[in-house]
Amino acid sequence: MAQQAAVIGDPVSTEPVVAREKLEEIFEDISSHILYDHELHGCLNCGICTATCPSAQYYDYSPREIVQLLWTENLEGIYDAMQEKIWACAQCYTCAARCPFENSPGGLVMIMREVAIKHGMESAKEVLRPFSRVLLKVISTGNQLAPNMITKEAFPDWGPNVSKVDAPLNILRKAIPVPTMHTMDTAWEVNLKTSIELYTIWEATGVLDQLETVDENLFDVVQDVMDEKREEYEEWLEEQEEDDEDED
Ligand code: SF4
Ligand code: SF4
Repeated sequence: MAQQAAVIGDPVSTEPVVAREKLEEIFEDISSHILYDHELHGCLNCGICTATCPSAQYYDYSPREIVQLLWTENLEGIYDAMQEKIWACAQCYTCAARCPFENSPGGLVMIMREVAIKHGMESAKEVLRPFSRVLLKVISTGNQLAPNMITKEAFPDWGPNVSKVDAPLNILRKAIPVPTMHTMDTAWEVNLKTSIELYTIWEATGVLDQLETVDENLFDVVQDVMDEKREEYEEWLEEQEEDDEDED
C-alpha cells in the first residue's frame, strides 16, 4: 500500500489538512528570507517583548510565542500562527528595542506576512481585502487615502468611530491649514514620471506578483491603469521631442 504523506489537522474540523511538505516549504521560505538571521538570534523565552507589545494587550497575540515557534522550528505552530495571529502585529517595533537578544519579533512577523502572501493564504487575502481601494488609489493617483475614502463602509475594521471623521468631512478638511489638502479626491498632485518610476520599482521588487497572488481581479485593474499611464507618458515624451525639434 502506498504510504500517505504526513499531515496535520484537527480530526473534527472541516478545514483541509496541510501536508508536511507544504509546512516545510513555508518554513524554508521564512528562514531563507534575507532578513531572517538579522531578526532572530536566539530566544530566552523571557516575555519582555510581549510585556511591551501594544497588540498583545488587545489581541490573542504574543511576540514571544511567535519567536519561540520560529526558534524551535515548530512547523505546525508557525502555520497556525499565520492563519490569524501574525496579522495582529502593529509593526511598531517596540519589541525590537527591548529584546535582550536583539531579536526583532515585529520584523519576523513581517517576513511571515510576506510568505503568507506568497503562498496565497486565505488569512492574507482576508486581511488585505479592505485595503484594495487604497492600493488602487496609490497606483492610479500616487496618493494614499483621499478624504472621501475614509468611510465606515470602506474600513469596517476601524470600528464605528470612523463615522466621526466621515460625517463632517468637508468642514474638517477646511479646518486643516494646508491648501493642497482641501480636496475630496487626491491630497496632492503626483508627477507622471514619478508614477512610472514607482511601477518599475513595484515590478522589480515583486510587489505586483504578490498582488496577483492575493487579488487577481485587482491585479488586472491595476495592470490596465499602469498600461494607460505608461502610454500617456510615452505620448508626453514624444510631444517633448517634437517641441525640441521645432525649437531647433
Ligand atoms: S524574543 Fe527576546 S524579548 Fe521576546 S521572549 Fe525571546 S528573548 Fe525575550
Ligand atoms: S512590532 Fe508587533 S510584535 Fe513588536 S511590539 Fe509592535 S505590535 Fe508587538
